[in-house]
Amino acid sequence: MTESIQAFMEWIEGYPEKHRALSLQTPLVGYFCTYTPVELIHASGFIPVRILGESGPIQKAYTLAPSFICPYMRRALEKALEGRYDYLSGMVQGYTCDVACGLTNIWEENIRLGFYHTLPLPYNRNPEARAFFRSIFSELIQKLEAHGGRFSLEALSQSLKIYERVRGLLADLYERRYQGRLMLSAKDLFSIVLAGFVAPPETYLQLLEALVKEVQGQEVIKAARGFPILISGSLLDDPKTLEALEDLGMDVVADDLCTGLRSFYPPAGEGPGEKNDPLDRLTDRYLHRFPCPARQRARDRFPLLMDLVRHSGAGGVIFLLQKFCTPHLADYPILSEAFNKEGLPHILLEIEDSGLTEAQRTRLEAFLEIHGRG
Ligand code: SF4
Repeated sequence: MTESIQAFMEWIEGYPEKHRALSLQTPLVGYFCTYTPVELIHASGFIPVRILGESGPIQKAYTLAPSFICPYMRRALEKALEGRYDYLSGMVQGYTCDVACGLTNIWEENIRLGFYHTLPLPYNRNPEARAFFRSIFSELIQKLEAHGGRFSLEALSQSLKIYERVRGLLADLYERRYQGRLMLSAKDLFSIVLAGFVAPPETYLQLLEALVKEVQGQEVIKAARGFPILISGSLLDDPKTLEALEDLGMDVVADDLCTGLRSFYPPAGEGPGEKNDPLDRLTDRYLHRFPCPARQRARDRFPLLMDLVRHSGAGGVIFLLQKFCTPHLADYPILSEAFNKEGLPHILLEIEDSGLTEAQRTRLEAFLEIHGRG
C-alpha cells in the first residue's frame, strides 16, 4: 500500500516539473474551482490542471491583491508571479466566489498566458439554468477551439467516461471509509484525491485502479481511531493539516471540502430524456453536483451535511476555512445554529498556512476534552 500512495505523493510533490515536461507535448489549461467543466477542456485536447496554493511566504502578491482575501488565492498569485505556471496555455475559471473571479482578472493583467476564460454559472436548477449551462459550454468550446483545441461529441463521451470512472472510484473509497472498511489514514486519502487535480486523468485513473485493487484485498473493519469528525470547509491543499488532526486524536470519517467530496460527488450526471447526449450528461452533473456555499444557500446545504454526518457516524464537525473565505464564513452562523439544534458539537478554525498553529491545537484539545473523550 505504501508504494501505491507514494505514486500519488510524487504527483503532489513534483507536479510543476511533470507539468513542464507534459506541456511540451500537450497544452495544459489551469483552473481554480471544481465548478470548471474539466471534461470540456480535456475533450478539446488540453490537460486540465488545478492551481494549488501550497505554502510559503507572500511578497509580490501583496502589491496586486489585498491582504484580506483567502491565503490560497494570495499564494497562488505569488507562485504565478514567480513564473510557476508559465507552462500553462490558458486559464478557465467557473465563476464561483468573487475572490476567485477577481483574482482571475488580476492574473489576466499580470500573467501572460495564451488565453483566459470565465464561465458565469447559474444559481438555479430550473430548465432555464440547464439552457444557460448549454450556452456557456458552447462559448467555452469556441474559446478553446480558437486557441488550438479540437472538440467533438465523441471526444466528450470519452472524457466523461474517464472522469466518471475516476469519480466513481473515489466515491467507492469514501464509502469504504464511512463503513470503517478503509485502512488509509485521512492524510493518505486526502493526498490521493489531491493528486487527481494535478495528474492527467488517464494517468490518475491507472493509479486509482491499482490502489482500489489493493484496498479490495484488505476487507477488514478498522478499529476506532479517535473522535469521529466531519470536516466542512473551503479548499485545503496541504495533507499536513489532516495529519495534525489525527495526531491530536481525531478520526476524520467524512469531509465537505472542495479538495475532497465536493470535487467528485456525484460521479456522473444523467440528462433528461436523451441520456446519451454527452452535453446533457455534463450539464446534469454540474447542476446536481454536491454544492459549494458560493452556489447554494446554507439552509439547502445543511440537510446534505446532516446526511453525511449520519452516514459516516461523525460525532462532531470541524469547520476548516481558509481565512477570509467569505462564502463559507457567511454560511457559518446558520450552519452552526442548525448543528446546535441537532446537538452536534462543532468548532471553527481559520487556516492561513500549512498545518495547525499552537493556538488551534490547544482549542482542539479542549474541544476533544469536552466532547470527544466522554
Ligand atoms: S471559496 Fe473561499 S477558499 Fe475558495 S477561492 Fe473563494 S474565498 Fe478562497
